[in-house]
Amino acid sequence: MPDSGRTGGLLAVHAHPDDETLSTGGLLATWARCARPVMVVTCTRGEQGEVIPAELAHLEGEALALATQREQELTEALTALGVVDHSYLDQLVEPMGEGVVGRTEAVQVAYRDSGMAWRGAGLAGGVAELPPGAFVAVPIDEAARRLAALIRGRRPDVVVTYEPGGGYGHPDHVHAHLVTMRAVELAAGEGGGVDGRACGPEDALPAFRVPLVLWAVQPEATMRSALSVLPGLPWVRALLEADRGLTVFSPTGPLPSMAVPDAWLDHVVDTSAVTPDVVGALRAYVTQVGAVTIAPEGPAPVQGAAISGCYALSNHAVAPIFDREWYRAATGWRPEAVDGLLPMTPQVA
Ligand SMILES: [Zn+2]
Repeated sequence: MPDSGRTGGLLAVHAHPDDETLSTGGLLATWARCARPVMVVTCTRGEQGEVIPAELAHLEGEALALATQREQELTEALTALGVVDHSYLDQLVEPMGEGVVGRTEAVQVAYRDSGMAWRGAGLAGGVAELPPGAFVAVPIDEAARRLAALIRGRRPDVVVTYEPGGGYGHPDHVHAHLVTMRAVELAAGEGGGVDGRACGPEDALPAFRVPLVLWAVQPEATMRSALSVLPGLPWVRALLEADRGLTVFSPTGPLPSMAVPDAWLDHVVDTSAVTPDVVGALRAYVTQVGAVTIAPEGPAPVQGAAISGCYALSNHAVAPIFDREWYRAATGWRPEAVDGLLPMTPQVA
């Protein structure tokens, strides 16, 4: 296999600052601790997000100020996770579209948070009016060509992003999923370029098919078990009593799209050793993650996992930090392809 110059490792693609930690923080920290190359690409700066602490409430709605704050939070979080290689998607090489082949000057673009509205228990939907530069309005191929060039240059062993529903429905997450899946296709030379013709910056580099593409998921049974166990844990009860605004969703209510049957799980990562790293990263997100707590009595067992701690987002719902992360091989990528790519462990049903 022609892989000279291949750096390997892991490439994670996420929509906003905090998603790399919330969705894949354990995986990133585990690979970083194993001294494997880890790169994170963030599609936007989360500038439309909600702000949790009252003392920072003035940042909400102030896109530029909030973007600056969230860039700082992301930098801190990546440091906690041990990740040194990061880029914003809009800072990757500018795609050369039809009629501008050979153009070298960079054109300044900014992919911005498209915003979202909570639609129910942990489920998100779009907003009525998109902000200027909204990521969801960026053509998939334009964004994907930037990422495809990076993939051809870095030749990662594994690319990870959200499942098709974006984890919980945020439009930017769904778009990040589509962009990532198109990028791995273009990088492999399987996409035929734009309008059937290859014309992106990736064409300067040899084609590369990523060995494994993963989607972050969680087992439905474990999520429901955690929701039934959480309110009874003394340290969670103390949190709920100290802050009456916090809640725990019903274990029998609707679950987000990341919840999948056990049979859909292809890989599990034991993240118990990196819980402090993940918690440190969560604590970096002062504007958007609250109630970050490590289980003081040690991990609490639930069905199929253990709860190592908790946090709450702007919907004020207490969510578990598990002692493992689960991944599903993307459609078209067989789990067997992961052979030799430890520390991923194939899930045995
Ligand atoms: Zn997000």
